[in-house]
Amino acid sequence: MSTLDTDYNLLESVVREIGGDEAVKVASLLDPTEETTDEAIAASADMKLNAVRKVLYRLYDARLAEFRRIRDKSTGWFIYFWRLKPNRVEELVISRKATVYRKLKTRLDYEKKYHFFKCDQEYCPRYTFDEAMENNFRCPECGGELRAFDNSEIIKRLSKKVKELRKSLEESGVDVDALDNGVLEDINQIIASSKMAAAANGSGNADQSSK
Ligand SMILES: [Zn+2]
Repeated sequence: MSTLDTDYNLLESVVREIGGDEAVKVASLLDPTEETTDEAIAASADMKLNAVRKVLYRLYDARLAEFRRIRDKSTGWFIYFWRLKPNRVEELVISRKATVYRKLKTRLDYEKKYHFFKCDQEYCPRYTFDEAMENNFRCPECGGELRAFDNSEIIKRLSKKVKELRKSLEESGVDVDALDNGVLEDINQIIASSKMAAAANGSGNADQSSK
């Protein structure tokens, strides 16, 4: 199902993240097979040569572009011939998916593993049974009563996403079981930081990863 078009949409989003609109502009002037020079790109994109070079090196750093250079015999300067490395895009996308998968799988395992308790206040965190017991089933934040918290909706939502990602990763040839083996460690990290319990409390707004 991975058509060339979707590959290029992904390429664009990856490139945009690396260097914004200018990077998208530069990348759109690069080709996988035909080489082009930074000067030609600068002229077509109506950008300063330095800006073009900066973007090109960023793309090179991300292994999205590669170059070949030859020395101009008359000037002694190097001329760089650039081209795109599109097969690298798929790699990036898969590794990104794997990261998200592990995050969600860890979160799902955490939700399944514990019973949670919570007061009536929206902004207060959830507590595990042990934590709730230690506090005599009173919320340490507001003093309200801690009652059993039904997380079945959260589990349902997470399970669905995890399943989708797993399928997509497997289709890309990723050994998802090997990924799962890394999950246990992550759970212990989550438990260590009780702040995660508070973050896990929100239904949809836990993802505040601003850039
Ligand atoms: Zn509370």
